[in-house]
Amino acid sequence: MLRRLPVYLLLDCSESMAGDPLNAVEVGVHKMLSALKRNPYALETAHIAIIAFAAKAKTVLPLTELNSVTPPVLSLRPGTSLGAALDLLRESIKKDVIKTTSEVKGDYRPLAFILTDGHPTDDWGGALARLVSVKPSPAHIYAIGCGQEVDFETLGQIADVCLRLEALTGESLANLFVWLTASIQTASVAPDAPLSLEKKIPLGEGMSVIDKERPPQYQEKNACLYFHVTCRKTRQHFMLRYRYSKEHQVYLTEESFPLPEDFFGDGSMKAPAIASDLLAGYSDCPYCRSQGWGKCGFCGHLFCLDPEHVESRITCPFCQTQLTMSQAEDAFSVDGSVG
Ligand SMILES: [Zn+2]
Ligand SMILES: [Zn+2]
Repeated sequence: MLRRLPVYLLLDCSESMAGDPLNAVEVGVHKMLSALKRNPYALETAHIAIIAFAAKAKTVLPLTELNSVTPPVLSLRPGTSLGAALDLLRESIKKDVIKTTSEVKGDYRPLAFILTDGHPTDDWGGALARLVSVKPSPAHIYAIGCGQEVDFETLGQIADVCLRLEALTGESLANLFVWLTASIQTASVAPDAPLSLEKKIPLGEGMSVIDKERPPQYQEKNACLYFHVTCRKTRQHFMLRYRYSKEHQVYLTEESFPLPEDFFGDGSMKAPAIASDLLAGYSDCPYCRSQGWGKCGFCGHLFCLDPEHVESRITCPFCQTQLTMSQAEDAFSVDGSVG
């Protein structure tokens, strides 16, 4: 049996990836897999696994040879549980990778790429301790922090190499996947050689290597707030994004994104409540276009509410409780998520 080069991709699918970024990652994975399938070295040695993480971590593609790979569907979820992703990586490597013994020449040392856009929302420290306690170190780990809210101090403890992707846009993510593809191809040619992929493969536009000794401070913690809302008319979910404005000292409304039907399947992440006078504006409900929201006094869930046409009694689309207006109006303290 040929020695394999196991490659693990850990992909952040939390709120801040909503819209273009998540689409770009999905397209990037597709293109990467088809390019690798055409590369004889990669085809011979690389096996790919993909772990998606948000509030939970999930293997969306178990370690598979390139010829048999089907690109996974990625769906948006609340939260950024980097710890859960690291635990799953460690368990997967333990389960998947064939160790070298006196009789068998085992697999090459795995390569792991972690793509994340924020700071972890779970207790990742324990997972890190479990990962680094494995000797020799279970994988070459590259962490790629995307956007402006990345906690590179945390990533630096996890990864051998930290890279930064300046902007979280479709275009910059597409460039990143070009780099990832070339990196996996290069690693497939000589999987035993020291990798230094960040030096061998030219970095795409907007990418840079982070000096782990002097990690940059993340510029704006909680620069964005995310609110999960259910449309009262269609019962479909959406997310509102607010971005902090230093100039105005409030969070300004930015965009609303439809959420998948099973978005709350993994449980929702709650951040400390925020006074609604720190929030300015409201993006339309993407389903019924109403321009306001209410909060259920019973289950705490948010729903869209047309401020011009409020009925005297409304039904919470989440817990189905009949609310009077005073029970629904209580939106001055709403729960958001920072994932
Ligand atoms: Zn609506
Ligand atoms: Zn309710």
